[in-house]
Amino acid sequence: MCGIVGYIGSKCAAPILTEGLEKLEYRGYDSAGVAVLNSGAIEIRKFKGRLAVLDEDIKKKSIEGNIGIGHTRWATHGEPSDVNSHPHANEKSSIAVVHNGIIENYMEIKEELQAKGYKFVSETDTEVVCHLLDEYYDGNLVEAVQKVVGKLEGAYALGVMCRDNPEELIAVRMTSPLIVGIGEEENFIASDIPAILKHTKNVYIMDDGEMAIVKKDSISLMKIDGTPITKDVYEVNWDVEAAEKGGYDHFMIKEIHEQPKAIRDTLSPRLSNDNTIKLDDIKLTKEDLDNFNKVYIIACGTAYHAGLLGKTLIEKYVKIPVIVDIASEFRYSNPFIDEKTLMIMVSQSGETLDTFEALRLGKSKGARIMAVTNVVGSSIAREADDVLYTWAGPEIAVASTKAYTTQMASFAIIALDMAVKKGSISDEEYEVAINELKQLPDKAAEILEDIDFVKDLAEEIYESEHVFYIGRGIDFDVAREGSLKLKEVSYIHSEAMQGGELKHGTLALVEKNTPVIALAAQDRLYDKMLSNIKEVKARGAHVIALAKKGNKEIEKSADRVIYIPDVTDELSSALSVIPLQLLAYYVASLRGCDIDKPRNLAKSVTVE
Ligand code: GLU
Repeated sequence: MCGIVGYIGSKCAAPILTEGLEKLEYRGYDSAGVAVLNSGAIEIRKFKGRLAVLDEDIKKKSIEGNIGIGHTRWATHGEPSDVNSHPHANEKSSIAVVHNGIIENYMEIKEELQAKGYKFVSETDTEVVCHLLDEYYDGNLVEAVQKVVGKLEGAYALGVMCRDNPEELIAVRMTSPLIVGIGEEENFIASDIPAILKHTKNVYIMDDGEMAIVKKDSISLMKIDGTPITKDVYEVNWDVEAAEKGGYDHFMIKEIHEQPKAIRDTLSPRLSNDNTIKLDDIKLTKEDLDNFNKVYIIACGTAYHAGLLGKTLIEKYVKIPVIVDIASEFRYSNPFIDEKTLMIMVSQSGETLDTFEALRLGKSKGARIMAVTNVVGSSIAREADDVLYTWAGPEIAVASTKAYTTQMASFAIIALDMAVKKGSISDEEYEVAINELKQLPDKAAEILEDIDFVKDLAEEIYESEHVFYIGRGIDFDVAREGSLKLKEVSYIHSEAMQGGELKHGTLALVEKNTPVIALAAQDRLYDKMLSNIKEVKARGAHVIALAKKGNKEIEKSADRVIYIPDVTDELSSALSVIPLQLLAYYVASLRGCDIDKPRNLAKSVTVE
């Protein structure tokens, strides 16, 4: 989490930094700050709260200077406050630092530094970096940074500037994401592409253990030990508009509406007219597939819910047992992994730290690693043996929507591709599945044509204290995602329950007018689900059911019915989720919530 940005050139740095930070706010937003070198001194402005507070201050009193660093924070060490905000500096304010991530051994270093007389003003782990730099600096900033990094443990990215080296910015990457933007007579550093996209589409994507010395007219790349390296320039193939709201009130609703296109962009390059699948970055052979005796799908949050569909599809078509686990749990469990294991890591950003560490654990035990991610060149993509990129475009809202549906679509093609190679699917079953998949973008668009009904439903439930979601099989999986979405953006307590499990305890929570969203989109489980709807209805629930178009019978049992287009059971959840996303959005909007930046959260979770 946290966003860092840096500029060196001939323009006024402060507005470039704050504009960049605005694009990184999705990564953290409990405080923001900048440090700019101005007439031989580093001027730092930093405030608790949203970036707007910093902007306001700079508007009142501008900051001059052509080199600077900026930060938008998601606190890990020390509460959000002015003093804990970044940038941090040494006592004489000659060196300033922005930091994304965690310095795990900061306590030990802090004690050593305190014993030497260094005074700490903040509670952050970051401040040790400033005082260590102060200790090691003897005129050569690069060497000082190298020595400091040699002492640090943890996952982090750093941006460093120094009053006495006004010609350079230094950036280092150890696990947390970092890019260097290549301009003309100006250069940039940032945590993510949108921060600098207005200025350049050419970037270097930094790897772990690498460092960049960024000057106005040159960039030198090296390993931490000083060994020079060369890198290909990555040319960004999307533009600034893709990372802007484009007339929508929020990124979340924009991204919900982008889903038909995102699913199409993910599927069509991989599906030929003759219905064959072509996955360029997945090199699995029949031999590999015959060798696997199990698959682990590892992810966090919404990506985990996409993984649950992956399990259903792989078990159905490929006939290999699949275990889906939450990355932070998996890492500290005793998983059975060996060379007969395929691990599929799912992460929108490709930087989710727990997922990344789970990948490394799997790799160390000999598993074959596949990544499903939205970010080209991300850490998880680079360390995986096989990659499937979701082509969802940049997802800015913290609550994931289009990344989720494209992950689901990706699992469909992964499972079908594996099944064909393994010979575990009949031609007929394959044709049905592919034809259905091809129609998915249009069916998603059909749902989005008429959303007023969902707005009305939001009016009915937005004042509720609790909302329950029920379903069976993949309807339960998508119920979990619907419930998570509502919690994230509206702060209403919500839970998802398996339809058949209600009577074993949780049914006790249902009383008169309790909203229950009941998913009944699978033909296979429809009758069973109908009984569960009747059970909650009999206890007074206000039932909003979700079913396939044409099902009039369900109207007799539910108070309201949301319809989705007719679709096979296997792909129904990729459509059912869309009205649930809309419902969460409109409920949050009626409650006046900060939809794109929910409290306490941030996107791209690069801390444990
Ligand atoms: N650990 C630093 C702090 O709390 C940076 C936090 C982060 O990157 O999330 O200020």
